[in-house]
Amino acid sequence: MRVPYEVRYRRGVHLPALDLWIDARNGRELAVVSHAHGDHIARHRRALCTEATRRVLALRTGSGSRRRRAVAEEPPRPGLAYGEELELRDAVLSLHPAGHVLGSSQVLVRHRGVRVLYSGDIKLRDGRTAEPLEHVECDVLVVEATFGRPEYRFPPTDHVARAICDFCLDSVASGVTPVLYAYSLGKGQEVLSHLADALRHDGAPPLYYLLLHYWMALFGRGDFAVRALSGVTSVVSLPFFWAAGRRLGGRTVGWVAFGLALSSPFAIDYATSARM
Ligand SMILES: [Zn+2]
Repeated sequence: MRVPYEVRYRRGVHLPALDLWIDARNGRELAVVSHAHGDHIARHRRALCTEATRRVLALRTGSGSRRRRAVAEEPPRPGLAYGEELELRDAVLSLHPAGHVLGSSQVLVRHRGVRVLYSGDIKLRDGRTAEPLEHVECDVLVVEATFGRPEYRFPPTDHVARAICDFCLDSVASGVTPVLYAYSLGKGQEVLSHLADALRHDGAPPLYYLLLHYWMALFGRGDFAVRALSGVTSVVSLPFFWAAGRRLGGRTVGWVAFGLALSSPFAIDYATSARM
């Protein structure tokens, strides 16, 4: 079988015809960095990557001279935009979204009539904190397939996210602090995004749970004591209804607003319930 383009792997992907390294694990003269995870970076003289990856790398590896020592020896320059074409000797290089983490890219090299695509770490499922994967046509595909074997079958993302959120909400409601272990770049932000959504839909913001935690420490965990927080909050809010009504239409409107807040079935329901 004719090999249309020579690609080697030696602690990093190497295209000998261009002497171009991609995700090299040893420092190189010039290397493309597909994304900012630790197993894809090294100290290179010149590093090519997206602007997002460049910024994330700066945050993850320190700033100023320390950053340059860790990632590239040359002063930082703006990263490439997705789809931007960079001429490299007689080849054209471009980066395309990989859907893996913020700024992650597939690397497309067009050289001597052949399109070589290095996928890097790719994710086909939609994520919340990474640019969606772009499908790129190519002649030679170099794919990183950590979980590509058929035995890896992951449950639907929504199921996992729901389980994590339920665990966190239940823990906080029980007065204990949930602790999650997640990779600091990518997974951590995905989980935070799901948690923010869960709190929005849950209708009981974190401040409520925090207050309830201290309230129960003071007054105990009995049914009446736990519901009393909502009751006290509702009573305290009544003068604000009166003041808002008075400001809008005078004293009479103030008292009407007060009466409505006092007798509304919704208000009474909220004033006598507790979220756990
Ligand atoms: Zn990765």
